[in-house]
Amino acid sequence: MSRTKSHEIFARAKHLMPGGVNSPARAFGAVGGEPIVFERGQGAYLVDVDGNQYIDYIGSWGPMILGHLHPAVREALHAAVDQGTSFGAPTERENGLAELIIELVPSVERVRLVNSGTEATMSAIRLARGFTGRNKIVKFSGNYHGHVDSLLVAAGSAAATLGVPNSPGVTPGTAQDTIVLPYNDCNALDRLFEHHPDEIAGVIFEPVVGNMGCVPPMPGFLEKIREHCDHYGAVMIMDEVMTGFRVAIGGAQQLFGITPDLTTLGKIVGGGLPIGAYGGRADIMGHILPAGEIFQAGTLSGNPLATAAGIATLQTLKDTNPYPQLDSHTKLLEQGFTAAAAEAGVPTVTGRVGSMLTLFFHNEPVRSWEDAAKCDTARYGKFFWEMIERGVYLPCSQYEALFVSAAHTDEDIAKTIDAAKEALAALK
Ligand code: PLP
Repeated sequence: MSRTKSHEIFARAKHLMPGGVNSPARAFGAVGGEPIVFERGQGAYLVDVDGNQYIDYIGSWGPMILGHLHPAVREALHAAVDQGTSFGAPTERENGLAELIIELVPSVERVRLVNSGTEATMSAIRLARGFTGRNKIVKFSGNYHGHVDSLLVAAGSAAATLGVPNSPGVTPGTAQDTIVLPYNDCNALDRLFEHHPDEIAGVIFEPVVGNMGCVPPMPGFLEKIREHCDHYGAVMIMDEVMTGFRVAIGGAQQLFGITPDLTTLGKIVGGGLPIGAYGGRADIMGHILPAGEIFQAGTLSGNPLATAAGIATLQTLKDTNPYPQLDSHTKLLEQGFTAAAAEAGVPTVTGRVGSMLTLFFHNEPVRSWEDAAKCDTARYGKFFWEMIERGVYLPCSQYEALFVSAAHTDEDIAKTIDAAKEALAALK
């Protein structure tokens, strides 16, 4: 596969942007080699600037659950563009998206639209602190909540991949109000709340972790967070930026039947345009200005293009219910990868919830960042490149989940499994 043009464009990019990219995971640092420069996407496929075609399992890191250039999203965007791109004033589309979010996400009674998942989590923890009058936030190692200073402590994803879980520039003063616990560890939660009964403003967590590879919650873990938040008066913040509208139309809270106080959303909620949202209990959300006293604002928040793409995406998900197909396709991939790895004699385990999947190059179950950190990341890197050469674009890090979209066909899944058989055999 020739990628001459890709190479030339990226060489120029390196003189223009730090590392040649606008977000670190894209630089392929975790798998070695150079990123691929893309020209277009259609359905389940991406085409690079050299004309090579790949079955896409990144889906722009989650938003593209309907596949690329879905007709409903495309039409909604065309219609919105023709009316003007941003007014910084109320529009009916904002109502449309807010109504869909409130209808679909079980715990959300009021919602505020922002511009990214990072803004959503940043705003939610400010709200939790303002509402409770407390300072400390609890998070879990390997969970990533965007590049918010106080949450960039033991973060997963690119932060883990690049080895900067505590980024320079995050002051010790900021980090000291963040308490980090191991994921899936109920005893650690018990001990923490016993020792700090009146100090914890909120607990923020990924209900299924996608940012250390896909790691599901163990039975009882989410319930334990709910129980302690209720007992000690802390705000339970479920970060559904990745899982929202992904693992079920109502997100992980619907799938597991757990009701958080606040929910953060991003990715799918904007259908591929920049957006985020946070919402939850009306009495808590009522503290946000101008209804209440806690400040949060945004020039482009709720803009016509992002809301148009978001409405089209959520409405299509609601009308077409792709979730059974997403689940069965991803299960086939999981089984296919596992069988191929066994055949090749390569030790692997999987983590999967719905259409989120990770093949871990490790021989024991992965339940926490402490487990995930033991994976053979060099081997994952080789697997990644073997798959690229066979036209399959997987996440460029062991610590990212792959996403199946509604546009993937039976044939795409079968081709991917065939590619994995050859790729895993080549690792011997
Ligand atoms: N929360 C989770 C769970 C995420 O996966 C991400 C991004 O990957 C974020 C928050 C941050 O979202 P954004 O990249 O839109 O700022």
